[in-house]
Amino acid sequence: MIGGAPAEDPALTRDTQIEHLHPVLRGGIERLHRELATAGLPFQLFEGFRSPQRQAELYAQGRTRPGRRVTNARPWSSYHQYGAAGDFVLRIDGRWSWDDQGERAHWWTRLHELARGVGLDPISWEKPHLQLAGVSLDDLRAGRYPGAGDETWAENLAAAISGWNGPPPAPPLPGGLPERPALAEGAPEPSPAPAEGVREPGPAAARPGRPHRVSARAGLRLRGGAGTSFEVLSVLPLDSVVCVLATRGEWSLVDLEGDGVADGFCYGSFLVPC
Ligand SMILES: [Zn+2]
Repeated sequence: MIGGAPAEDPALTRDTQIEHLHPVLRGGIERLHRELATAGLPFQLFEGFRSPQRQAELYAQGRTRPGRRVTNARPWSSYHQYGAAGDFVLRIDGRWSWDDQGERAHWWTRLHELARGVGLDPISWEKPHLQLAGVSLDDLRAGRYPGAGDETWAENLAAAISGWNGPPPAPPLPGGLPERPALAEGAPEPSPAPAEGVREPGPAAARPGRPHRVSARAGLRLRGGAGTSFEVLSVLPLDSVVCVLATRGEWSLVDLEGDGVADGFCYGSFLVPC
């Protein structure tokens, strides 16, 4: 069984991983970085993808928690939750700076001009924020995601969606998730002792009795039950190996330590047989 408190939840930390962003935004950001360097403007990506949990924390700041308000967007109402926005901030002498006074006022104007040139839209009320042009928040919330999404973007978004309890409800899963090949003809059926009330796996579910590897780049939440309404016990990092004891619908009951004792449930789509 798991002992001790879970480690710091990576969902709450600032994410600068370019692979978590939609590939079209990623391409725009790479071009923007080059043009900023040419122009001698020291802006860098401060935050890219932002989990709905982190959005909820930032939204609470200045409302139900101490501090000044930093955002008016609730979870799933910011482009950041869809990997469709990046915040650019000045990086001077090893420190982040939001300074927009004096000659630096013009730097921010140039940032916005260069961003528009590479297909990124600034917003008037938050200078660092640049979002993918040509897609609306309504589109994103309805699951009408921009085309040309790739696996690293889709898997990260899917992990955020499957790990969210709401409110508000999470958007639909993106397409483009990797599909595991079908089981080979004649593959032996292991005979585990499933827990009471646990039914046999469907064709797409993880296979009981075998070690599996976590394939979610942002980590996979271990929950107290088979559903997103159950509490998160911990987050299993990418490439962790677990043993699937049984499945319940899309969910897998897993043993982390190989001692045959159940530790919790994970969403089975992110468990790949080893
Ligand atoms: Zn932003």
